[in-house]
Amino acid sequence: MLDKPIEEVMNHSDRDIVIPADVVATVNENNNLQHVFLVLTKIKYSKIPVLDVDNHFKGLISLSMITDQMLVDEGLDTDRLGNILVKDIMQTDVHTIYEKENLEVILRYLVDENFLPYVDKDDHFLGIITRREILQEVNFLTHNFDKYFHAEPNEISTK
Ligand code: AMP
Repeated sequence: MLDKPIEEVMNHSDRDIVIPADVVATVNENNNLQHVFLVLTKIKYSKIPVLDVDNHFKGLISLSMITDQMLVDEGLDTDRLGNILVKDIMQTDVHTIYEKENLEVILRYLVDENFLPYVDKDDHFLGIITRREILQEVNFLTHNFDKYFHAEPNEISTK
């Protein structure tokens, strides 16, 4: 469990930690890899969410997953990409977040991932929560703790 004072101070920050779906670059699960390779090459992100036609979150696709499909004995074969769909190779074992207030879970998952998909109870994609946004919250916490709580050293901190 998060220490209560820490959680309370973070709740005083007015920033929304979610980057909304309409500004997140995504691809459709039925796109072929040639299309997605071009998308990922043009934007600055190496891994992005995959959705279905009804905006459900389905998985993640990255540049390295695609280049892996290009590898053949003689080197690289880019022609293969037109025949493979995103849904055939995307990562599906992804932790998603249903409650953006659950900082404890978000912090635990963000240790291993750069970002987490934020979805509703029917898995409709609502946006992402990134390490950067959470670090902004930590920044707020470290500069505002004293405004809300008075901390005194205990035995451990004086040793
Ligand atoms: P950041 O913490 O801002 O570096 O973002 C971490 C990761 O989240 C990036 O490397 C991308 O994989 C993903 N990401 C962040 N913003 C976007 C966006 N607008 N569209 C798609 N993916 C994003």
